[in-house]
Amino acid sequence: MAEDAKLLKIYTGQCQCGNVTFKAAGLSDIWYCHCTQCQHLTGHHIAAAGVAKKNFSYTGRVLWSAISKLSQAGHCAHCNSYLFWDKHESQNMSILAGNIDDTSGLVAKGHIFVSEKKDYFEITDGLPQYDTYPPEGTRET
Ligand SMILES: [Zn+2]
Ligand SMILES: [Zn+2]
Repeated sequence: MAEDAKLLKIYTGQCQCGNVTFKAAGLSDIWYCHCTQCQHLTGHHIAAAGVAKKNFSYTGRVLWSAISKLSQAGHCAHCNSYLFWDKHESQNMSILAGNIDDTSGLVAKGHIFVSEKKDYFEITDGLPQYDTYPPEGTRET
């Protein structure tokens, strides 16, 4: 598996204060998630890219908070930047896109959990919208 990782593009990132840095080999494209959980965590919705957990590492102190029985959110223990979302049973996790240093090569693919979106704004970017997850999932590689 380490062989695979060598062929994947390496992305780096950090929180606002620099306490946490991370490295990901191979990111999926970016999805906007409008679920209630993301609304509470950020006040709006998130943009996040997916990474295989085995291809991901970080340094610095991350505060992991249980946000449901199924998942946890990772924030910088110092500046509280929202960095990661991790569903325990999944082999992948999400990295909040605003913390990625260089997003070149990544594009926004669409909107998920639109069924839970608040009605104070309209989605007008023309990207695909899904009530929950797209049938093919949010990771295509
Ligand atoms: Zn920080
Ligand atoms: Zn969400």
